[in-house]
Amino acid sequence: MAGEPQADCLFCKIVAGEVPATIVRETATTVAFRDINPQAPTHVLVIPKAHYPNAASLAAAEPQVIADILGESREVAAAEQVEDTGYRVVFNTGAGAGQTVFHAHLHVLGGRGLQWPPG
Ligand code: IMP
Repeated sequence: MAGEPQADCLFCKIVAGEVPATIVRETATTVAFRDINPQAPTHVLVIPKAHYPNAASLAAAEPQVIADILGESREVAAAEQVEDTGYRVVFNTGAGAGQTVFHAHLHVLGGRGLQWPPG
């Protein structure tokens, strides 16, 4: 069923506490944790607890949860004190856009200057 945990999904295992992660925030619908390979001084991933393979499928099925994720990104930015200096939120969607983990996740990047366009 859509949204159900997947046995072979790394981020479902983080939600379940079966794989360790540095969790910075948690709500009823989301978990935020530090990226294991940070690309900036602040690099936090905000994910839905429910399993959807990417942001598009999450937006189609549970639009309120994608709104929750964006709201959480603001809380992360405030807690990390990157609101004033600027930060970026990114959903890589599809392998061609660099997605490597197929459980929807929003990158929150900040704490250094960021170039545009991204590579
Ligand atoms: P994507 O390339 O947009 O799919 O992003 C996946 C992100 O997950 C990458 O930035 C990885 O560094 C990160 N990642 C992979 N495994 C783990 C983990 O076990 N804990 C935290 N972050 C992870």
